[in-house]
Amino acid sequence: MKYALVTGGSRGIGRAICLKLAEMGYFILINYQTNEAEANNTLVLVRQMGSDGELMKFDVANAEEVKQALDQWSVQHKGEHVEVLINNAGIRKDNLMLWMPGNDWSSVLNIGLNGFFHVTQQLLKNMLVSKYGRIVNIVSLSGIKGLPGQVNYSAAKGGVIAATKALAQEVAKKNVTVNAVAPGFICTDMTQELDEAELKKQIPVGRFGKSEEVADLVGFLVSKQASYITGEVISINGGLYT
Ligand code: NDP
Repeated sequence: MKYALVTGGSRGIGRAICLKLAEMGYFILINYQTNEAEANNTLVLVRQMGSDGELMKFDVANAEEVKQALDQWSVQHKGEHVEVLINNAGIRKDNLMLWMPGNDWSSVLNIGLNGFFHVTQQLLKNMLVSKYGRIVNIVSLSGIKGLPGQVNYSAAKGGVIAATKALAQEVAKKNVTVNAVAPGFICTDMTQELDEAELKKQIPVGRFGKSEEVADLVGFLVSKQASYITGEVISINGGLYT
């Protein structure tokens, strides 16, 4: 059995990635924070793809919760390990820096950046020991370009981008690749309240992207064919950033 963990797999881009990896034959560990009903819906869809999975509830920002959940999984799956990790969980709390409450700075950083650290550190050792692994971090255009009103989110995503490049060099010799995927505007709950009609005028392709399009890119990075790609940040944004 080959196992893949997708953080924030209950909805949006994370769900689409779960389905893509299920199609590729992975058993999917579907992480979520609060929305068990949607996580269950993802599991039903994973099974419809002919694979299987299980729910794994933890807050990526909480180091103890992450450790407890993943240690417990390891005890129940002796001799097995998670070979694919997709760090997808993320939130945004937009505000101009001047008005940004301290909590909105720290929660976005805790989930986006510290969450990457907590989950990746737990799973890295077994990838190195078994000399194979795939880590894909879902970042954002905001982390490359910086976007006004998103100083917290840009910092979190920019931090993960730099960490991706550094970690890729640490683990490359063990056949573990670490890459980042940077979407522009993708139709999910996260972008639901945005003015799509207005914003799409700025996008050369003329529309928001679909979660499935992001998932296809992630699927390629996870595949054996992508063995020579590591430390990269690949944009998927309809030509928005050039
Ligand atoms: P959604 O808001 O649709 O889904 C967010 C997911 O993250 C949910 O599954 C949610 O779980 C989970 N989550 C949130 N906080 C935590 C936490 N503390 N611990 C564990 N899981 C958590 O987001 P998207 O699908 O749009 O975004 C997915 C990723 O893509 C994010 O990292 C986002 O920053 C990034 N991204 C999105 C873009 C877009 O346009 N949509 C553009 C660029 C990047 P639950 O259901 O339990 O709440």
